[in-house]
Amino acid sequence: MIDVQGKIPVTRSSMPLFDEYCDEIRELWDSHWLTNRGVKHKELEDKIQSYLGVEHMSLFVNGHSALECILETMELGKDGRDEVITTPFTFVSTTHAIVRKGLKPVFCDIKEDDFTIDPTKIESLVTDKTCAILPVHVYGNVCDVDAIRVIARKYGLKVIYDAAHAFGVERNGIGIGNFGDATMFSFHATKVFNTIEGGAIAHPDGVLSERLAQWRNFGITSPESTEYVGGNSKMNEFAAAMGLCNLRHIDEEIAKRKAITEHYWEKLEDIKGLRVYKSQQGVKANYAYMPIIIDSELFGATRNDVMIALAEAGIGARKYFYPLTSDCECYEGLFLPSKVSTPIAYKTAENVLTLPLYADLAVNDVDRICEILRRIHG
Ligand SMILES: *Cc1c(COP(=O)(O)O)cnc(C)c1O
Repeated sequence: MIDVQGKIPVTRSSMPLFDEYCDEIRELWDSHWLTNRGVKHKELEDKIQSYLGVEHMSLFVNGHSALECILETMELGKDGRDEVITTPFTFVSTTHAIVRKGLKPVFCDIKEDDFTIDPTKIESLVTDKTCAILPVHVYGNVCDVDAIRVIARKYGLKVIYDAAHAFGVERNGIGIGNFGDATMFSFHATKVFNTIEGGAIAHPDGVLSERLAQWRNFGITSPESTEYVGGNSKMNEFAAAMGLCNLRHIDEEIAKRKAITEHYWEKLEDIKGLRVYKSQQGVKANYAYMPIIIDSELFGATRNDVMIALAEAGIGARKYFYPLTSDCECYEGLFLPSKVSTPIAYKTAENVLTLPLYADLAVNDVDRICEILRRIHG
């Protein structure tokens, strides 16, 4: 779909019909119960838990707060072990959450084929200060969860997955939220499933549900006692209502994304120097993003040239993810140069571009985008 300026945005938030949302929020005017574990919150928590096939699910105001809250609730760093092995090829949120909780990110390189953390490079980064591994199912690609589990067990480390991109993804029929000690999901407006702003933690531990509920509500444990120095990261009823509406249409949304993605693959597959990424073996994908890698020598133009040419045609491609989080200004001088410590992540960030992808993107718009790419190449 082209917006009023004839431009194609990189993404477009999924929304229910206006009347569907109005019906969903009507009862809030009767109850006057707007937040703090209301009926919509409860219903959404149950429905997402069952949709994702996970044991426990805790909702949050957004994915980033959910990530900070799980790090707090696990009390990482308290025993003096404060290093978290993670990936720099992600949205800044992942790294910020670690740093903002007083922990130290230790950056591990990624795999060239799916951009997830390279488990063969994790062990050499483990020290007696390491407390956890925080990998990212980037673009909805599933990390090597088996190898990561083996390393975590060997060294007694927690594993917390950032699955902000991976709503609805399954590996060999098992929901993505079932690996590791906890998994964070984001329900931000630009994600595959949204509650406008929102997020969640999925985990296998019933006690953790209660702890998370306390930590996300100022650490209050009963009407007259507050045992933890918690923040406020509760999801409100209007966000939960949006989630209930969007969840009704999620399978259709993902099916539309699949069709668009497959169309891209078909049109772009044979262009020299332009790489597309098919879904992983045994994985039910969610088609969250459409990353391409430009090899400028073979393609005949750089990633930046491509982005500029697309922008001139009103097409909003993004350098997602560039720069690496370890190269952000706020971390200047704190870490080794990424070119040295995480060379594959560095090279990927230099050459990656994500193309527009959303459920209502028209096939002829995809054709137009692919035509431009072919022309630059030619
Ligand atoms: C979106 C995102 C987050 C943060 O989620 P919010 O809901 O926007 O707070 C964290 N990690 C990754 C990889 C993301 O893409």
